[in-house]
Amino acid sequence: MFFPFPDKIFDDVTCIRPEFLRQAGIRGLLLDIDGTLAQTRQPEPSPAVDAWLAEMRRSGVALYILSNNKSPERTRAFAERIGCGWRHRSHKPGRKGFAAAARELGLAPRELAIVGDQIYTDVLGGMRAGMHTLMVQSTDTYLWYFPLRRLAELPFRRERRAG
Ligand SMILES: [Mg+2]
Repeated sequence: MFFPFPDKIFDDVTCIRPEFLRQAGIRGLLLDIDGTLAQTRQPEPSPAVDAWLAEMRRSGVALYILSNNKSPERTRAFAERIGCGWRHRSHKPGRKGFAAAARELGLAPRELAIVGDQIYTDVLGGMRAGMHTLMVQSTDTYLWYFPLRRLAELPFRRERRAG
């Protein structure tokens, strides 16, 4: 049986530091948008997230937007802001989107990490793809089903908080 434990859980994306990525051998990040880079209904990232993205680029970390969002416009807007490749309707946890992203970046799965807020799409998909899995606490706080999802995820969050 296969359990979707994230490698690490961070409070938010800006807690993911270049030194940590270097030490883990991670050269590229596949980024989820909703609940990760911005709240689901927020049209663009916060200044803090923008600054973090710029820092990642300066550190030579390859970036890619891997979103399950149905809207190509939203996904493209985030990717253009970052200046990176993107894919909407990725059907995470399906493997296809992860494989396509790795191909486009020219990096091996073990050199990549998925950064996302959901166990059953981001973390599970990243594990199936053989990538590192970095989970962030969702930036979303208001959707009615979140407490239920959080409850379902609880067993997998145990002892995985970043030190
Ligand atoms: Mg998300």
